[in-house]
Amino acid sequence: MANLKIANLRKAYGIHPVIHGVDIDIAHGEFVILVGPSGCGKSTLLRMIAGLETITSGQIRIADKIVNDISPKERDIAMVFQNYALYPNMTVAQNMGFALRLQKAPKADIDQRVSNAAGILGLEKLLDRYPRQLSGGQRQRVAMGRAIVRNPKVFLFDEPLSNLDAKLRVSMRSEIKALHQRLGSTIVYVTHDQIEAMTMADKIVVMHDGIVEQIGTPLDLYDNPANLFVAGFIGSPSMNFIEGTMSVTGMKDESGTIWNVGEGHRASAGRPVTLGIRPEHIRIDPHGYKARVYVVESTGSETQIIADVGQARLTCLIRDRVDIRVGDEIGITFDPTLAHLFDRQSGDRIVRMDRLAA
Ligand code: ADP
Ligand code: MG
Repeated sequence: MANLKIANLRKAYGIHPVIHGVDIDIAHGEFVILVGPSGCGKSTLLRMIAGLETITSGQIRIADKIVNDISPKERDIAMVFQNYALYPNMTVAQNMGFALRLQKAPKADIDQRVSNAAGILGLEKLLDRYPRQLSGGQRQRVAMGRAIVRNPKVFLFDEPLSNLDAKLRVSMRSEIKALHQRLGSTIVYVTHDQIEAMTMADKIVVMHDGIVEQIGTPLDLYDNPANLFVAGFIGSPSMNFIEGTMSVTGMKDESGTIWNVGEGHRASAGRPVTLGIRPEHIRIDPHGYKARVYVVESTGSETQIIADVGQARLTCLIRDRVDIRVGDEIGITFDPTLAHLFDRQSGDRIVRMDRLAA
């Protein structure tokens, strides 16, 4: 087990830079998730930590030791990939013990560690089966078992759940989280799925085009997104954005609607801004902004309404059952203290005075 420090890390493939100077500090025992859209450099970063990819510049330290020039084998790291090919002609126990057999570990030791890992993963009864006799979730657990038997300093996961169906993905999320609690190990986990990141991570690193946009706890990113990218990426359905210009009474959008954006932000009249409102923070209110309903979708537990206020199209998530149909005119409102203002040019969030104090 160990801490991990990444300092000003860069990577270029030939003349194409893909990681542009990344700094991440990971504490011993922390579960950190790198999340971002496909192609933003998550796998490249993870592979550099593992030693499978050369480092163009910068530094990686594991347990306070610089590992830039240390081979993958000597880094004491175990990686679980999306395509976790198991050896089809080996049993579960043989698959799990394979790396230890290569290291010529004593048989009693291998058996002990395989049985221990099988206990942690609930695979005890499956040790003599072959991969083809396992379900997708069981195979994924065997792949994790192969990593656990090696008792590495750091676990690296690259989208390990992407190939599983939706239901299994949800149950594996809790299993991996429980596994982390049992092992107390340092984990760096890559996913493009923000819900996976929100539900499992101690700390999330949001990446975009080879840079880190923000690092924080899941709720920190949800409550205080640093910029438009993080605000739009974290949360489901995505945050609504309305562009406009500050006026003395609020924010005026293209259709002339004046939005109440609350007090205390440092945005003076005339400044081009973007207002961000989460769908779950919008309520139905007959005295609110007049909105024309465009789409209504109910899942039973909640209703998603897409409605237009002037030219602004807003997604609203309503918990109650409502009798609202397409074409209706409704009133909607939101709590301005839960909304965010962003500078339209930089995309950065405009911090409120009341939040600065908190
Ligand atoms: P992610 O895992 O976030 O989807 P990757 O780390 O796989 O993204 O890729 C980041 C960028 O680097 C992409 O633009 C990808 O095309 C490029 N890339 C990845 N591997 C290579 C490679 N071996 N050679 C050249 N370009 C690569
Ligand atoms: Mg990837």
